[in-house]
Amino acid sequence: MPTIFHRIMRRELPAEIVFEDEHVIAFRDIAPQAPVHVLFVPKEDFATLNDVPADRPEVIGRLALAAAAYARAQGFAEDGYRIVMNCNGDGGQTVYQIHLHLLAGASLGRFGT
Ligand code: IMP
Repeated sequence: MPTIFHRIMRRELPAEIVFEDEHVIAFRDIAPQAPVHVLFVPKEDFATLNDVPADRPEVIGRLALAAAAYARAQGFAEDGYRIVMNCNGDGGQTVYQIHLHLLAGASLGRFGT
């Protein structure tokens, strides 16, 4: 079932795309929770983290390393940043194509505080 993110990938919906390669697309979150809030999305379909097979760690690794590279390029490596992936209802997932949130540009405090 196509999500909003699939439609962004197909350029059917507008988005501020900040990175794209063969495997990953990244664009600014429409409702930013930090000065920089970018979503890193695999081009392959996985509804939730539960759907990523154990023998496919590269799917998650690519997202994390693309987010780290973007954070470094934007000058956030030293001060720091946060990456988050929500899973299913209790995790707060609302779009069912996996994505990694990159939050940066402010002191985010300890998680959960
Ligand atoms: P989730 O709650 O972890 O699934 O995150 C979904 C994210 O997608 C939320 O932070 C939303 O603000 C964001 N979002 C929803 N629709 C769009 C859109 O059209 N463009 C960019 N971000 C979106």
